[in-house]
Amino acid sequence: MEKKNIDWASIGFGYVKTDKRFVANYKNGAWEEGGLTEDENIVLNECAGVLQYAQTCFEGLKAYTTEDGRTVCFRPDLNAKRMHDTALRLEMPPFPEDKFIEAVKAVVKANEAYVPPYGSGATLYIRPYMFGSNPVIGVKPADEYQFRIFATPVGPYFKGGAKPITITVSDFDRAAPHGTGHIKAGLNYAMSLHAIVTAHNNGFAENMYLDAATRTKVEETGGANFIFVTKDGTVVTPKSDSILPSITRRSIMHVAEHVLGLKVEHREVTFEEVKDFAECGLCGTAAVISPVGKIVYKDGEIAFPAGMEEMGPVTKKLYDTLTGIQMGRLEAPEGWIVEID
Ligand SMILES: *Cc1c(COP(=O)(O)O)cnc(C)c1O
Repeated sequence: MEKKNIDWASIGFGYVKTDKRFVANYKNGAWEEGGLTEDENIVLNECAGVLQYAQTCFEGLKAYTTEDGRTVCFRPDLNAKRMHDTALRLEMPPFPEDKFIEAVKAVVKANEAYVPPYGSGATLYIRPYMFGSNPVIGVKPADEYQFRIFATPVGPYFKGGAKPITITVSDFDRAAPHGTGHIKAGLNYAMSLHAIVTAHNNGFAENMYLDAATRTKVEETGGANFIFVTKDGTVVTPKSDSILPSITRRSIMHVAEHVLGLKVEHREVTFEEVKDFAECGLCGTAAVISPVGKIVYKDGEIAFPAGMEEMGPVTKKLYDTLTGIQMGRLEAPEGWIVEID
């Protein structure tokens, strides 16, 4: 496969138009087969449900080239399942999970020239999404929907090494108890924009959100879950019904327990105990793990022992093991790596 002439190291995280995208419409109570198109534009009625009442959700995953030259995706079945769950919560008709995976494969295959080569650090980011497309003026679910998947090459997340970031505890809340924090809905991001712009203006890379009801427990950031490491090497990740179930986090916890033989805990984490952890990181598809060096809050700051120059030792081991599995350098658990043929 002849690759596009792109400077993979310097493309950053932005939209680059690729050759083909997948489109399927839902009408009269059923999803049509759908297929690939070259047209990147969407023409919608001015009153479309998505435009009026934000009835939209999305997913995010990556395709990349392994060490032995295969083009693969990482656990797309979990994205299919999560989008199914999200759709139900938003009163949208779920796109069939098997067809979701087929469509992901078709989009990657059709844009294989944009899948960055092994070792470049870049990947092909895949964005499945769905929205209400027919006119809706009274508040109710749309009757018609469009499901689409596009792909765009993105550069290495860490340029010049994964430097720890400084984050802050947000004064805003991300998700209410019994709300929509656990689903990948656009609305969760719309309301996070003011909070992240505020954090950036104050010099912080990310927001740590606490639980909205008591503001005593750690939830997540706007787009990544937390993992912590205790001083005796246990990997801890916060549990809450309003946290988005990150596929990266679930994979890291599996790797920690079953590949590295570490003790793992998925439980409520109070903000009070964060100062006692040895390491802190953010996990999500984009960065895999971003190390957190410091957390600044109203009454002080928490500086983790690994400092601001490098990842903590356990975080690094988790990062190296998961990326090793993804890139085909280490054996993957059954079903994690899906080849594009
Ligand atoms: C997408 C997302 C994550 C990360 O999930 P991955 O499946 O690991 O990419 C974490 N938190 C929120 C709020 C998200 O939207």
